[in-house]
Amino acid sequence: MATNKKPGKWRPRTIAVRGGQMRTAFQETAEALFLTSGYAYENAEEAEARFKGQAEGYQYSRFGNPTVTMFEQRMAALEGAPVARATASGMAAVTATFLSALRVGDHVVAAKAMFGACRYVIEEVLPRFGISHTLVDGEDIDQWQSAMKPQTKMLFLETPANPTLAIVDLKAVAKIAERGGARMVVDNAFATPALQRPFEFGAHIVVHSSTKYIDGQGRALGGVILCREDFLKEHLQIFLRNTGPSLSPFNAWVHLKSLETLDLRMREHCGNAAKVADFLAKERNVTRVLYPFRPDHPQHNLARAQMEGGGGVVTFEVEGGKKAAFGLANALKLIDVSNNLGDTKSLITHPATTTHQRLSPDARAALGVSDGMMRLSVGLEDPLDLCEDLTQALKAA
Ligand SMILES: *Cc1c(COP(=O)(O)O)cnc(C)c1O
Repeated sequence: MATNKKPGKWRPRTIAVRGGQMRTAFQETAEALFLTSGYAYENAEEAEARFKGQAEGYQYSRFGNPTVTMFEQRMAALEGAPVARATASGMAAVTATFLSALRVGDHVVAAKAMFGACRYVIEEVLPRFGISHTLVDGEDIDQWQSAMKPQTKMLFLETPANPTLAIVDLKAVAKIAERGGARMVVDNAFATPALQRPFEFGAHIVVHSSTKYIDGQGRALGGVILCREDFLKEHLQIFLRNTGPSLSPFNAWVHLKSLETLDLRMREHCGNAAKVADFLAKERNVTRVLYPFRPDHPQHNLARAQMEGGGGVVTFEVEGGKKAAFGLANALKLIDVSNNLGDTKSLITHPATTTHQRLSPDARAALGVSDGMMRLSVGLEDPLDLCEDLTQALKAA
């Protein structure tokens, strides 16, 4: 297989279309889908050499697959990361990052505003292996600093965070990690490399749920871990090979092709979300709107310093708590009630009773997740239709 021309000087939009492509002897223009579990060797000697790592080549799709490799290479180039490994889902990426490197006695510091399942892994799974944690307010840099211990090996955060869209100062937290000899892990699912590249701010590892904006059309699950060579060699590679959270070549192909329109889609998601956020802010029974690029977002300046767009998610509060929030959701005629996000279709969820229902009322209050809060993933429909749908539903609520 021939590798594509040198991507060294390409700009991000070119990388998104052509990065990591490998062509077979047929010189196909679109990336090939290699639906194969195994690979044949010329002879027994070649099999031996590949297993010993003395010869290049694929062995088994749990270890690697050409379509998956193309997706990994394109993701690495877009994030500005040395290497990438794809996984079956975003949660497989997060879990493998922790379990491949951490051991009994280690400690993790994490921002408490995070995706519900990530919080489960940190609070319920890691302690079973003797790995402790401290949860902090991600926006408060002093809390990160004072949570550090000699045993701290990883700092984990999401920015913008789900569902409050709180922003964490990547540079400041990376410095704390660096000083403590720990790695900063950033979940970049909400922003995508089209809007935010955490490696530029000092991140050591970036994880993704490519299920969200990278797929962008609500079709296939996937995840990615991006890291430096040392982490791959010392921890990740052997763990992934032997535990098997591998991405299916078919899903890799779907996400690889989706990357070609990521930049276009993210610009439209941001434009639509900004319009919907401004519209909601003027509605009488909407008490609060959270959108990173609106001047009334508490960390508006930081968001603009780290991100190239405010993203596609808008969070808002309706007057009247859970009853009003449910009334709004049930009256929507265009926007779907769904906990997924990053789809071309606009999706809305009530975090207090869905994504964050596992948390106690106190833990929800600490995150600012109120009973009237709705998280809206703004899709690519005409924003006027979305605003009309919201207007009639707010009236009905
Ligand atoms: C969805 C999501 C995940 C989990 O990804 P899956 O692909 O659903 O496993 C992790 N982090 C964030 C921020 C997410 O939005």
